[in-house]
Amino acid sequence: MLGVRYDGSSSYFRGTADAPPRIREALWSDVGNPWSELGIDLSAAALDDEGDIMPDAAAGAQGAREAIEAAVRRIVDSNRRPLVLGGDHSITYPVLRAIRSRHPKLGILHLDAHGDLYDVFQGDRFSHACPFARIMEEGLADRLVQVGVRTLNRHQRDQASRFGVEMIEMKDWNGSRVLEFEQPVYVSFDLDVIEPGLAPGVSHREPGGLTVRQAIDITHSLRGSLVGGDFVKINTVADPTGLTASVSAKLVKELAARMLVENT
Ligand code: MN
Ligand code: MN
Repeated sequence: MLGVRYDGSSSYFRGTADAPPRIREALWSDVGNPWSELGIDLSAAALDDEGDIMPDAAAGAQGAREAIEAAVRRIVDSNRRPLVLGGDHSITYPVLRAIRSRHPKLGILHLDAHGDLYDVFQGDRFSHACPFARIMEEGLADRLVQVGVRTLNRHQRDQASRFGVEMIEMKDWNGSRVLEFEQPVYVSFDLDVIEPGLAPGVSHREPGGLTVRQAIDITHSLRGSLVGGDFVKINTVADPTGLTASVSAKLVKELAARMLVENT
């Protein structure tokens, strides 16, 4: 587990950089216990905590991306699988550069209210609205499946077909579909995929999303070999009750446990 305290490539408003300590706090809180529904005690499992990195603001966005990639490379080069706590969604691009260096075959499951496929957003090609355009252009994944999207404009639809994205829009999610990957798979979780009434502490609330239960079911039923994942967009400014940190911690727990049980 690695926290990435970076929100310098956000638009509209910031606040996701403070999420990693809040998620950890919720994850290990005595209000619950560390057991996953899959029967794994995370406190006794092979889950190392690498702490947080806080990219140096003086180094700019490029420097931040390099620091993030280097931190994830250290994890994958020691044959471990990263679970990254963000941070805004721009971090997934440098994370995937590191992951791809170890995986010649790679699929991505991306859960998000947004496609994050903009070529450029507000003049920034590395904005939190663009990571999956950069990932697909650079060939960092052989397959990208997006679930829960409900904000597409014409440009993003064009980008999705240009990159061959398999998109299951929220309006088409039937609730029981099992997702299957032949190649190793990385899971990128933008918390705004969840219905904002259930997880309001995100930067861009988009009503009409997945329930927490549906998200857990997707995680548990996912077929394939998991190589890592991230949880991004939890905005502590918009999460005064800590509810969204709790939801995130639950999802972290279930994904971490799912990484430890084979389901291929
Ligand atoms: Mn989003
Ligand atoms: Mn996103």
